[in-house]
Amino acid sequence: MVVLELHGSGGRIIADITDEQAKLSDLGVGKNFLAPVGKLEEQKMQKYFCKKCEAEFDGSPKIQIEESPNESVADGLILIERGQYTCHKCDSILGEYRVFQKKE
Ligand SMILES: [Zn+2]
Repeated sequence: MVVLELHGSGGRIIADITDEQAKLSDLGVGKNFLAPVGKLEEQKMQKYFCKKCEAEFDGSPKIQIEESPNESVADGLILIERGQYTCHKCDSILGEYRVFQKKE
């Protein structure tokens, strides 16, 4: 496990993630991103920074499930959930997540 700062469009989340997730989050530009990691569990997120509030908060942001489409996005891959991490104070979106599942 590593503690990393993960960047989203509206803020950053500091979270405990696995080495595998860390690799996914590293797009090779010197910082780590939220979107490629998938959904983080609330207890793994230690704090977050909201760009709109310009402030850091302890604990995890809110997780808002936008939809659970169960749609095929590619051969052998299904999108099972899409959602956002949002700020407890101002409700702005810090970043998005997607959960995929491989078709049997
Ligand atoms: Zn905020």
